[in-house]
Amino acid sequence: MNNKLYGNLIFELSQEGRRGYSLPKNRFGKYAVPKEMCRKEDAQLPECDEMTVVRHYTNLSANNFGVDNGFYPLGSCTMKYNPKINEEMAALPQFQNLHPLQPADTVKGAEAICTLLCRSLCELTGLHAFTLKPFAGAHGELTGLMVIKKYHESRGDEQRRLVIVPDSAHGTNPASAAVCGLDIIEVKSLADGTIDIDALKELLTRVGNDSIAAMMMTNPNTLGLFERQIPEIEKLIHAAGALMYYDGANLNPMLGAARPGDMGFDVMHINLHKTFSTPHGGGGPGAGPVGVRKGLEQFFPTVSPYHGNFAVAIRAYAYILSLGRENIKMVGPLATLNANYIKEQLKADYELPIDGLCKHEFVFDGLKDKSTCVTTMDVAKRLLDYGYHAPTIYFPLLFHESLMIEPTENESKETIDGFIQVMRQIAEEAKTDPELVKSAPHNTPIGRVDDVLAAKHPVVTWRQLQNDRTA
Ligand SMILES: *Cc1c(COP(=O)(O)O)cnc(C)c1O
Repeated sequence: MNNKLYGNLIFELSQEGRRGYSLPKNRFGKYAVPKEMCRKEDAQLPECDEMTVVRHYTNLSANNFGVDNGFYPLGSCTMKYNPKINEEMAALPQFQNLHPLQPADTVKGAEAICTLLCRSLCELTGLHAFTLKPFAGAHGELTGLMVIKKYHESRGDEQRRLVIVPDSAHGTNPASAAVCGLDIIEVKSLADGTIDIDALKELLTRVGNDSIAAMMMTNPNTLGLFERQIPEIEKLIHAAGALMYYDGANLNPMLGAARPGDMGFDVMHINLHKTFSTPHGGGGPGAGPVGVRKGLEQFFPTVSPYHGNFAVAIRAYAYILSLGRENIKMVGPLATLNANYIKEQLKADYELPIDGLCKHEFVFDGLKDKSTCVTTMDVAKRLLDYGYHAPTIYFPLLFHESLMIEPTENESKETIDGFIQVMRQIAEEAKTDPELVKSAPHNTPIGRVDDVLAAKHPVVTWRQLQNDRTA
């Protein structure tokens, strides 16, 4: 896009007196807006003709990056391809025109979809019942913890208020426990990111068995590693009278491989928008259904009206059905294969702090050659020049230069090989021309931004921007 020609802001394209539209004179005299409610001065709106407006916004939209534009290896967020048939199903007028207050006997089809989706989720996870009400992963965590709290209360165990959360957990885990009014106690991970069983045993002895409500685990964990100690952890936690919570935000590596219910978990959530595909860049929409072991379904709280985010449920069900019972078993193995392939191809150039088999994602700790001063941030910015979305950077916090890559099961070998080649090229540039990488991106409409300034003094209004420019 040519920014000079089209301008950065619609306000900058404004020409005094230029019209795109003219409205008919008010033909409804007696319904006219009362004088005292009318504005005294004209609103300060941009004055543009229709074609200018269309070109401006069309060109802006072309600057957006999504999974439909290119490879989007954002670790922990699972930006997988969203098949278009999902959108077609969710857009069917029979679904789209439903009203939440319609009589129940006119929405039997929609209810059947919810029931069938819950049944599929039960089958995929080995749990007994699901609720579709939660609107996101974090909302699912809160819902699941409310179930756990109610369960303990029903047994007269109100004093069980401690939720054990590994130090490598997603930030939403402790946050959800706190919102639920529970107390958080952290358990350390080992150097390889898996839970330190000795630290867990020590913790259990220290706090006493009857104060623990639950243990939250993410599996594969934040480093993309399968928690091999689950059987032992499960025994310890259940012996303490507490419940096991499974953060299944990213369940794709498990599909067809293993089921949380079989591993001894009592409660879990799944991010439908990550695991079963729904476009969720920019923060939404989502759905975080919660599944429970038999006997716990009576404690499902009402966390939202009606059936939650129904359109996301339709997409997930379409995804499950279009893969089918046999093909869905390939999701986990392919996600795992793709991640391991990239890891092995790049570990000569990028620092791999924890070697070994990963699941759907893995973490590098910056470039292998530390003499170049080129950081993970620089690599991420340089990737934009080559038309890739950056991986997740500086998360998890276990390493200084985290670069977290998740290719997902969808990508072809050609796409993945293209990415590997570019990552190697950047590692080479870091040695031969570090300034080129450190000053990237060079090909994007906006170059390197000052993160600190943008965070501390965000300029989000036009007037402010104009003042700043003239100041
Ligand atoms: C994304 C994610 C969450 C939070 O899900 P939201 O839908 O963003 O609320 C929780 N846990 C893990 C492991 C995640 O990756």
